[in-house]
Amino acid sequence: MTTDAGTNWSGNLAYAAAELHSPQSVDELRRLVASSGKVRALGTRHSFNRIADTEHTLVSTAAIVDEPVIDRDAQTVSVAAGMRYGELAGVLERAGFALATLASLPHISVGGATATATHGSGVRTGNLSTAVTALDLVLANGDLLALDRDHPDFAGAVVHLGALGIVTRFTLAIEPSFGIEQTVFERLPWESLAAGFDEIMGSAYSVSLFTTWQEPGVIEQVWVKRRPDRDAPLPAELAGAMRATEARHPLPGSSAVTCTPQLGVPGRWLDRLPHFRLEFTPSNGEELQSEYLVPRQHAVAALEAVRTLADRIAPLLFVTEVRTVAADDLWLSPSHERDAVCLHFTWHPRQPEVEALLPDLEAALAPFSPRPHWGKLFAAGDLAGRYPKAADFRALAGRLDPQRTFVNEFVERHILPEP
Ligand SMILES: Cc1cc2nc3c(=O)[nH]c(=O)nc-3n(C[C@H](O)[C@H](O)[C@H](O)COP(=O)(O)OP(=O)(O)OC[C@H]3O[C@@H](n4cnc5c(N)ncnc54)[C@H](O)[C@@H]3O)c2cc1C
Repeated sequence: MTTDAGTNWSGNLAYAAAELHSPQSVDELRRLVASSGKVRALGTRHSFNRIADTEHTLVSTAAIVDEPVIDRDAQTVSVAAGMRYGELAGVLERAGFALATLASLPHISVGGATATATHGSGVRTGNLSTAVTALDLVLANGDLLALDRDHPDFAGAVVHLGALGIVTRFTLAIEPSFGIEQTVFERLPWESLAAGFDEIMGSAYSVSLFTTWQEPGVIEQVWVKRRPDRDAPLPAELAGAMRATEARHPLPGSSAVTCTPQLGVPGRWLDRLPHFRLEFTPSNGEELQSEYLVPRQHAVAALEAVRTLADRIAPLLFVTEVRTVAADDLWLSPSHERDAVCLHFTWHPRQPEVEALLPDLEAALAPFSPRPHWGKLFAAGDLAGRYPKAADFRALAGRLDPQRTFVNEFVERHILPEP
């Protein structure tokens, strides 16, 4: 146990927790939770807001390690919640398996990513939480609750913001290993994007756009991750964007050495689905992030709305990434029941200025009912109105955690107000 819980990955917040515990076993975790007052779980600290924080007891499950167990017939893997995707991916690949999707970085824990509906990109691919087929949850009294897809509470409990308990294990759907070829195209004309957004984003298994909003008529980069076993060959020119002739970093001026291989060189899914390599600092390192998910049918209108603020966004911004994610049935997933486009902003670490801009950005996106990424910076308060299942989640939290042991200030403000 330590009394200094340290900071998050970005360094923009120090956790207020009085104690940080790292139990070595599930039984130790159960005893700890049962004997504590208010508790929150901590993953790998990659969230930019106080979602993981508490003034009371913080618990990392990173030390509860055991080998992932692959069920070849069921095509699932059972994995400790504290494991990072980068490590899990290596185990799966060695056994001939893969996950359908990964985030831009492999450094995050399965528990933390799942709790916030972390996603990659792909018009037909759900977020990382949609791979969960079962989970084990330590409740406030120390009991262990096992939920699987057949359980009526399951869809409410997967994306849970840490508000229902502490997950010790997940079972995740896997599939046979596959290859990816990653190609970056440059200078996509805005008119081409507006005319063919769905075709461009659907041109391969996973597609991301990167723009700094500094050139009014141009999206600077299109990252295309093609599955040769499924996708058509890529053209030399994608809707007016040209293939890059050397490897790129999404942040202008940054070295591509930290990025996963490009130039269409065939390789393994785990080396191509994330943008950033596990052994390096992902993205810029000193940054803040915000992201809003809006229905994909409004993608172009939403991008136009953001563009009206380009003069104010650009000076604070490293880069914007635009991705897609398929609809799902998970109650608090920002892609709940709607195919989404994800409008992401990697900001300079100038938090007061970023926070001053966010209300205007959210006002511009308001016609599209934006759902903020749970783990990033946003201005909105109560988000219940944007989630049709918010009342059901409240009822579920009331049943599983009637004492509100796992409710922190963040969760209370955005989704679980005091009854
Ligand atoms: C450089 C960078 C790149 C990113 N790229 C992406 C991206 O590509 N796509 C995307 O969607 N997001 C992205 N994110 C955001 C990130 O994926 C989320 O913030 C994610 O939640 C971080 O996971 P974590 O393990 O660090 O969790 P934390 O930030 O430590 O915790 C997040 C939440 O999970 C809960 N939690 C953690 N472990 C458990 C557990 N065992 N049981 C119960 N609750 C638990 C915590 O209580 C908290 O509510 C990025 C962040 C950074 C810093």
